[in-house]
Amino acid sequence: MTEFRPLHPESSMMSLGYDPFLSEGAIKPPIFMTSTFAFRRAVDGERYFRWAYGLEQRDPAEAMGLIYSRLNNPGLEILEERLALWDGTERALSFASGMAAISTSVLAHCRPGDSVLYSSPVYGGTEYLMMHILPGFGIQTHSFAADTPAEELASFAASLGSSLRVLFLETPANPTNRMIDIEETIRTIKARVPEGHSLLTFVDNTFLGPVFQNPLRFGADLNLYSATKYIGGHSDVIAGAITGRGNILEPISVYRTILGSVPDPFSCWLLLRSLETLKIRMTEQAKNARILASRLQDDPRIEAVHYPELLPPGHPQRLIYEKQCSGPGAIVAFEIRGGKAAAFKFLDGVRLCKLAVSLGGTESLVEHPATMTHSDVPTDIQFSVGITEGLLRLSVGIEHVEDLWADLDQALARAVDEPAVTR
Ligand SMILES: *Cc1c(COP(=O)(O)O)cnc(C)c1O
Repeated sequence: MTEFRPLHPESSMMSLGYDPFLSEGAIKPPIFMTSTFAFRRAVDGERYFRWAYGLEQRDPAEAMGLIYSRLNNPGLEILEERLALWDGTERALSFASGMAAISTSVLAHCRPGDSVLYSSPVYGGTEYLMMHILPGFGIQTHSFAADTPAEELASFAASLGSSLRVLFLETPANPTNRMIDIEETIRTIKARVPEGHSLLTFVDNTFLGPVFQNPLRFGADLNLYSATKYIGGHSDVIAGAITGRGNILEPISVYRTILGSVPDPFSCWLLLRSLETLKIRMTEQAKNARILASRLQDDPRIEAVHYPELLPPGHPQRLIYEKQCSGPGAIVAFEIRGGKAAAFKFLDGVRLCKLAVSLGGTESLVEHPATMTHSDVPTDIQFSVGITEGLLRLSVGIEHVEDLWADLDQALARAVDEPAVTR
């Protein structure tokens, strides 16, 4: 190498933030299964606490010490440095779950009397937080459908005035892959809130980030993740993460310390393991998903497929996809002919794919949103957001694509009385 060039994130995932010679030469960071850390001298303990509680600004030349695993832990610090690199942000914070990341972030930035405007549909846990938890703290929440006309959205935002504190978006939305134009939505709303009013935009980036989408590039203030999904990627850990600017993350970090929504050392270690293969997993999963989605689209046993790359050129959703995303991800939603009865026969017929909720893991999972993940959504809303009786959500894994297709094909044959297409 003749000149200095920053490394790509996938090149740094095996080394960033870790010095093997501080740990007996171990190539992988050990798991520091300890709740507390010894201070060399009393003055060190005093300084670390002053910095940790923000009583004194730390000179960047001085190293923060380890205190107690609800505040910091070596694995947690390495993990956060690596997460920040993926999104190119100043800082990242990790959490005990995706819901811990979302709830801690909202609570840290909202006060009684503030309001939150959120897109619909959102993840079920997020919906519950908005509908049932935040109002109890005096935080008003309002949802808007992803396809609300700009003018209608703008005047609704204007009616909230300076109470509007957080705009919360989830795109692509679960389970239909419906996308929201992040930049346009922020512009529409900011044009109608009082001049100089601070409004923060949080985007749940679980479906495509950090490999295929970075909402911060489109004006969002915070990326939120269920790290249980693609970041963890092996269906063996529950965790969450956020990335963004230091000044937005700092109050959230204080709330995390006090609410205790921090991940444990073993979860951090599992996520470090996972980040090493994040890009190849997501890329391979998307490659498989593309092939399966287009075969499903051509199959007479299927009524419709919802997958960004299958959108026709010029379709408004396709324009959002082309602007905002660098890949389609690996969630394929499709509607089987024959409604719920056929959908259930299909689910009972899969062999390689597993019938389970969750997504983003190495194994393919399939489920029925109307009766499972989205069963608490009222029927009329289910209908209006496209959660039909025959809709299935497939999270595509890294199995061989022909084995996956053979499995889908045989399960479709059991479920729908239509001759299979010959290929
Ligand atoms: C799973 C999920 C969550 C919640 O994450 P947990 O890790 O289960 O707490 C939030 N948002 C989206 C889009 C999800 O898929």
